Amino acid sequence: MTGTMKRFVLTGPGEYHYDTAPIPGIEKDTDVQTKILAAGICGTDVHIFHGRRAQEFPFVIGHEYVGIVTAVGPAVTKVKVGDYVTGEANYSCGVCQQCATGHGNLCVDKKIVGITVPGVFQEYTVVPERYVWKIPESISPREGAAIEAGVVGFHAVNRANVHAADRVLIFGAGSVGLWALQCARVQGGRVFVSDVNKERLAIAKELGAEEVFYTGDIPVDEKFDIIIDAAGVPITVQQSISHCRDHGTIVFVGICAEPVEIDMCQVTRHELNLHGAVASNAEYPAFIQLLSTGQISGEKISTHVLPFEEIPKAIDLKAKQIAIKAVIDFSTK
Ligand SMILES: [Zn+2]
Ligand SMILES: [Zn+2]
Repeated sequence: MTGTMKRFVLTGPGEYHYDTAPIPGIEKDTDVQTKILAAGICGTDVHIFHGRRAQEFPFVIGHEYVGIVTAVGPAVTKVKVGDYVTGEANYSCGVCQQCATGHGNLCVDKKIVGITVPGVFQEYTVVPERYVWKIPESISPREGAAIEAGVVGFHAVNRANVHAADRVLIFGAGSVGLWALQCARVQGGRVFVSDVNKERLAIAKELGAEEVFYTGDIPVDEKFDIIIDAAGVPITVQQSISHCRDHGTIVFVGICAEPVEIDMCQVTRHELNLHGAVASNAEYPAFIQLLSTGQISGEKISTHVLPFEEIPKAIDLKAKQIAIKAVIDFSTK
């Protein structure tokens, strides 16, 4: 596809305009051009919009999307024109030490869509085929726009190594936490969720949480085999340590805004296993498989759908934590 497209352009923190620009074309043999159907608003977009993350302007943000392939380079074999696809947010280089040892999510030279390369709050995007994944038609664009957050939750669960009947406590019923809840259940875990928002706890229940705890109101002596901290605030980091059973596992996936003090003595005495989890690592195919077989779903996670003209409003709904996942519907522009 050639011609012009509409874009949402950030010109500075909290400043933006909509304009038109040439549609990006196929440059490399392995490029895939996609017309975007829907895009999700991520916490990262909110941080950039509010100037809390360094960014050069003007710039197009956004990295969570689904769309239809409109053109492919001559060497592309993975997808064809007309395929319904999503794309990864991080492009690993494939050759650095981290990539070569199977940790592409920690690539020292990674490019990040909507941060270091232009994002998807525009009608078309061009991506190397390696980071594009075909998805089943049964997944609605609304649900598909939440996939990127889902794979992050899936990675956190995979870092925990859940065994059947493990009691898994998740802090934070946002998009990553609610996806992690479903993925942990698929792996046989009995899942418990803690959050400060009662509506989100109700959704956690609908998605199969065995019990929910409001504002971290967890009985003092209650211990869990696995804890996934998807909130990343000082209190949840500390509660993760105090509620983890001896030799249990904690995965920190929520990114703390500042350093947090923890009682290392507890970690040592109870032989706690502490893991970080960031982005995802070669987990798209397995995640899409879970989605396509209906074992997990994003329908309840994508709580708000707004037209293309209302991207600032969608960012605001996410910033105020009214939306779990706010989705931009490109068919309305
Ligand atoms: Zn994201
Ligand atoms: Zn690399």
